[in-house]
Amino acid sequence: MSWEPIDCHAHTVFSDGELTPEALIAAVRARGVRPSIADHASRDVSSALKTVDAVRDYLAAVSALPVGRGAEFCWHDSLWRELPATLLSQFTHRVGSLHAIALADGSWVHMFQRHLPDGLTPDVYMEAHVATLEAFAREMPVDILAHPTLLPLSYRTLPIEELWTEAREARAVAALAAAGIAFEISNRYRPHPRFVARAHAAGVRLALGSDGHTAEQVGDLAFPLATARAAGAADAALYDPFVHGSRAA
Ligand SMILES: [Zn+2]
Ligand SMILES: [Zn+2]
Repeated sequence: MSWEPIDCHAHTVFSDGELTPEALIAAVRARGVRPSIADHASRDVSSALKTVDAVRDYLAAVSALPVGRGAEFCWHDSLWRELPATLLSQFTHRVGSLHAIALADGSWVHMFQRHLPDGLTPDVYMEAHVATLEAFAREMPVDILAHPTLLPLSYRTLPIEELWTEAREARAVAALAAAGIAFEISNRYRPHPRFVARAHAAGVRLALGSDGHTAEQVGDLAFPLATARAAGAADAALYDPFVHGSRAA
């Protein structure tokens, strides 16, 4: 059979997605893409798996289906630290997200908060962002960093290549390379080509993710796949939990 991409990051009704797992599988397959489910497992996402028992029930339900078994964990939330090894080993892959960034004073900036603290500049924020990413890479046993260029709402209109300076990109890529964590090319929060090319050149594996929540979004990997190919990555080298396994298993 010819190579088919796998969508490593998509949501169902187990968290904030619109589709049942069965409907997600059908929608993704219809695009010629292999499905996996990566619902939110975090106490800090309003619609999510919030307890160890909820994660156990989710894994039991998803394991009965022909689909990759992932989850998207918030770095800043503690739920991922509480999961026993018997549950962790049941995931085909795990996705880690920086949905909040630690500032130097220990407070957190959330990606979806409306107003940022007074006096916080983009440069100060970005230094904290990269430092948080480095701590995440050192400590969190995940296979993929979700949407590496996700930023707070009020910075999303700024030029992303200017916030992500080349020096900051280099630090992020070095941290991911040292940890063996893949760089997600998200269809929802799209990275710029320079960052993707830098990750690939440093030996960081690239992963494809729709971050889809609806039938129109799940399995849509056209942009991520084109971006990976433009960066020089071979299709077979793109992260596939069924080929490359999970570093966290
Ligand atoms: Zn996310
Ligand atoms: Zn997501």
